[in-house]
Amino acid sequence: MPDFQRLFRFAPSPNGALHLGHAYSALCNFEMAQACGGAMLLRMEDIDTVRCTPQFERQMVDDLRWLGIAWPEPIRRQSEHFTDYRAALEKLQDMGLVYPAFLTRRQIGEAVSNAEQEGRLWPRDPDGAPLYPGTERALSEAERDAAICSGKPYAWRLDIENACAAAGAELTWNESGSGPEGQSGVIAAEPARWGDVILARKDTPTSYHLSVTIDDALQKITDVVRGHDLFHATSVHRLLQRLLVLPQPDYHHHLLLIDQTGKKLSKSDGDTAIGALRDRGLTAENVVQMCKTGARI
Ligand code: GLU
Repeated sequence: MPDFQRLFRFAPSPNGALHLGHAYSALCNFEMAQACGGAMLLRMEDIDTVRCTPQFERQMVDDLRWLGIAWPEPIRRQSEHFTDYRAALEKLQDMGLVYPAFLTRRQIGEAVSNAEQEGRLWPRDPDGAPLYPGTERALSEAERDAAICSGKPYAWRLDIENACAAAGAELTWNESGSGPEGQSGVIAAEPARWGDVILARKDTPTSYHLSVTIDDALQKITDVVRGHDLFHATSVHRLLQRLLVLPQPDYHHHLLLIDQTGKKLSKSDGDTAIGALRDRGLTAENVVQMCKTGARI
């Protein structure tokens, strides 16, 4: 690959068809890269090896090419790089910042609804999901070993309080787009709002937060351009970058295309799939135009 000063990336998960919202994001990346003489890389975020399939990937690649979007090869597939993520997790383990947590989603839900029934307000993350209670942070080594030996499934969680303390002050990022509430400029990261996030699971050596941070560094991404639904996740990514001594890209979060009912487009809404639009006889120019003029929030 030639030496580009600025590198962007489009990073879909191949677990469904590419829709107008993805196409809009890919076009933002591609056009911003072209405007500054940089390049847009393509990364398949396929850590969920059950829901992500080579067929979906092929279809996404065909749809992107049909739209006139190009990228330097090779495509990076996260499923081929689990050892990179495992190495990062081991670093965080060595720093004493992650711990195994065995509560199931249902058990966490029960703890939250019990507390709420007693009238306690349970803290929520920026996406509105209740925070993990953090109870297993205090398990002893012996209790952890016993639970692991018993074969229970578990998740590796980041001890967010200690991780923030280890990262130190002044964790910020440069935002040239905008957050959901219009935030832009120098943004103060607030990773603690996410609680003890999951970084890996017993059977999957990574999570979205971990692999996206590692890949942005390994692929030397200078500009992360993505929807503002991921604006707050950037706080976690900045924290991991600081802990793992990785470079800090600039960020640009863009608006999201919406459907006629005002909802964000989703993979389950087949009408806006690029393949469906092509089958209806639309040209690539028509679809690009729809991306540029569609309603957005
Ligand atoms: N794979 C994520 C998605 O499809 C995008 C991740 C990112 O751009 O950071 O929503």
